[in-house]
Amino acid sequence: MPIKVTVLGSGTPLPNLRRAGPAFVAHLSDEPVLVDCGPETLRQMMVAGIEPKLVTKVFFTHLHLDHTLGLGQFVIGGWALGRRKMQLFGPPGTRRMKEVLFDDLWKKDIDYRLSLGRPGGGLADIQVDDVGPGPVYQDERMTVTAAEGIHTTYDLAYRFDHDGKSVVFTGDTYPSDAIIELARGAGAIFHDCNLAPSARRWFERSEGGLRVWESLQDHHSTPENAGRVAAAAGVKKLVLIHLQPTADPEEVARLAQTTFSGEVIPSEDLMEIEVG
Ligand SMILES: [Zn+2]
Ligand SMILES: [Zn+2]
Repeated sequence: MPIKVTVLGSGTPLPNLRRAGPAFVAHLSDEPVLVDCGPETLRQMMVAGIEPKLVTKVFFTHLHLDHTLGLGQFVIGGWALGRRKMQLFGPPGTRRMKEVLFDDLWKKDIDYRLSLGRPGGGLADIQVDDVGPGPVYQDERMTVTAAEGIHTTYDLAYRFDHDGKSVVFTGDTYPSDAIIELARGAGAIFHDCNLAPSARRWFERSEGGLRVWESLQDHHSTPENAGRVAAAAGVKKLVLIHLQPTADPEEVARLAQTTFSGEVIPSEDLMEIEVG
C-alpha cells in the first residue's frame, strides 16, 4: 500500500492566505503522523478531512516558530475532540518547549479543563523525546530515522519507512550530504525550496527585505539545489515545500527539473501525494 502524504501547509513564516505554515501528514496505512505543526495545522487537518484525534505522533524538524506555533491548538483542541495519547519527537529543545508551554504557561488553563472530569490522556501525559541523527522510533507500522540538515538552528530530516515504501521530509535546510544519505532510494523527498527568483520579489518589496533574503542563502535551498539532492539520493519524486508568498510554482518546478529528471511537484496546501 502506498504512503499518502497530505500537505497541510506549504508555506513559510510569512503570512499568506494561500499557503499555511509548514505541516504534513504522512498516512502509514491507518496511522496518520504529523510532521511539523505550523500555526494553522489543526484547522487545515479538519479541512483536509483528517480526524485530529487519530493523529497521536508529531515529529518536529526544528523549533522555528513557523514549524511549532500550531502545537497548543493541535494538542489541546485535538484532546477536546477525543484524542487520548500524544507523543512529540524533535531536536533538543522539544522537551523544554513542551514544559514551558504545557507545564508552566498554560498549566492553570489545562488544570481547569482537566478538573471538569474529562480523561486526561493525551493532555496530562504528553510524552516527549528529544532525538538526534539515527534511529528515532520504531513500531510494527513504521521505522523513523533522522539526519541533520543545515539551518540556523538544529534541523532534522526524517525518513519514514512503512510497508516497503519510504518518504523523507527535510525541514528547512541548505543541501545536506547527510540528508542525501538518509533519502537514498526513497519514494519521495519533501525538500525545502525557500529560494527562487520569484520568491525574492517579496523581499525586494518589503522594508529591510533584501538583507533578510541574503541571510537566507546559507540555510535554505534553491529549486536547483533541491533537485541536486533528489538526484544524488536517487529518489523517484521531489516535492518542493516551504514556498514564499511570491514563489511561482511553474518556475520552481522548471528550475528543479534542470537538475533532477524524476517527477517534480511544487506543493500546494491540501494537496495529496502518493508515494509508491
Ligand atoms: Zn521554516
Ligand atoms: Zn527554519
